[in-house]
Amino acid sequence: MRHPKGFSHVAVWVLALLPGVLALPFLWPSLDQPREVLNALGRITGIWGLSLLLMAAALCCRVPGFDRPFGGLTKLWQLHHRLGAIAFLLLLAHPLLLSFAAAGISLDAAVSTLFSSQPASVWGWVALLALMAFMAPSFGFFGEPEYQRWKWLHRLSGVTVILALLHTGLLSRTLPGWLAWVLWSTLALLAISALSYRWLYARWRGRSSYRVTRVTHPARDVVELTLAPERQRLSYRSGQFIYLTPDRVGHIGHREEHPYTLSSAPDEQDLRVAIKDLGDASHAMLTVPEGTRLWVEGPYGDFFASNPARPELWVAGGIGITPFLGRVREAVRAGRPLQVHLIDCVQDETRFLFADELKGAFEGWPDSQLTVHYFYREGPLNQAFIKRVCPDVADRAVYVCGPLPLLERAREALSACGVPAGRLVTEEFVLL
Ligand SMILES: Cc1cc2nc3c(=O)[nH]c(=O)nc-3n(C[C@H](O)[C@H](O)[C@H](O)COP(=O)(O)OP(=O)(O)OC[C@H]3O[C@@H](n4cnc5c(N)ncnc54)[C@H](O)[C@@H]3O)c2cc1C
Repeated sequence: MRHPKGFSHVAVWVLALLPGVLALPFLWPSLDQPREVLNALGRITGIWGLSLLLMAAALCCRVPGFDRPFGGLTKLWQLHHRLGAIAFLLLLAHPLLLSFAAAGISLDAAVSTLFSSQPASVWGWVALLALMAFMAPSFGFFGEPEYQRWKWLHRLSGVTVILALLHTGLLSRTLPGWLAWVLWSTLALLAISALSYRWLYARWRGRSSYRVTRVTHPARDVVELTLAPERQRLSYRSGQFIYLTPDRVGHIGHREEHPYTLSSAPDEQDLRVAIKDLGDASHAMLTVPEGTRLWVEGPYGDFFASNPARPELWVAGGIGITPFLGRVREAVRAGRPLQVHLIDCVQDETRFLFADELKGAFEGWPDSQLTVHYFYREGPLNQAFIKRVCPDVADRAVYVCGPLPLLERAREALSACGVPAGRLVTEEFVLL
């Protein structure tokens, strides 16, 4: 996978860990007794818990282009989730460790450390309980959460950031006052700017309006919409995706934003998106009539970040053909043949989406090849199939897009074929 530990990832971790690292010299000298060690651990988990939580909040801004140094929005979300999950565990440990440390003095001291009536302590508990309530669905404690409900609840965890800051500002004395002020206000500023961008600016100014001008159905449960800009035209690269929000009152999914990859070529005047019926909102898109107004936000993603100086292998699964379709359309319009092997994994002949268009393009490219993998005939994609149809697979740059089971199978099979992880780029159609 590209950008395994890129500069941006390192920079985020450095910023997130900095307050705790700077606090270490102030905790170190007193570590001569177990009680002091527990106390120091209690403090450091509090500091790192808060700094990781603030960095997780700072990453949720979704400014178009900000995600690219991270390898795309899906990779950025993964980092956001990792920071949030570690912060959650650290913040759970924080009061317990402090109370264990106080238990070295007396049981009363331990209980009053845990349940002090000081306002700062109360804010801390409110923040922690709220965080538990808002993050529990992210950990799947109550089964797979319904996406929109999860998103709504997850948004509220921003409140816990403010409460945790209040708690720290009133109670923490580990770092010298000026240093604590500089560190926490810098991280708080990053987090609050990100949240304000996301929930205020992006909502009103960060989206462009488009109208549906054409509706086609490449298969029974798939629709391709052509969208014409009402004002500003979006500039993007093939393989990127947008958030689409239908502005159709009474329509299921009204005002619900969903990510869809652009299947059009970047130099087309209009945008195109191909949508498969995978749930309520995407099902409703199948019946969107011409003239419907939609809001577009983006572009996001970094699927085809670089042009590798080697032939490419594309592996598409079902609707995961969309980023490749954008590249094909771009090359056809530019009259620039590609050097690519596409393995399109489909259930059967009726599920071979955009078949005529793809066959037409590949017939005109002497150095390219199109292979269709029919599940009903071949079974799941495997190493033997890939090796047979694409013997030089190990020398290619490989891009895979499709449902999660296919991604996992393809990763295994490609690794067994000798494709190094650094030459394999994947796009998941799942952000949670
Ligand atoms: C980067 C990316 C690119 C995508 N490109 C395409 C595409 O080109 N064509 C296509 O048909 N589908 C694409 N998808 C998938 C599409 O976003 C989901 O199918 C759609 O959001 C499902 O919503 P639903 O309400 O119909 O189904 P639901 O039953 O509500 O959701 C089904 C699953 O889709 C995911 N999902 C639901 N809502 C959202 C949301 N708002 N944001 C992110 N994920 C969500 C969740 O994992 C959920 O479990 C893409 C997804 C991602 C992340």
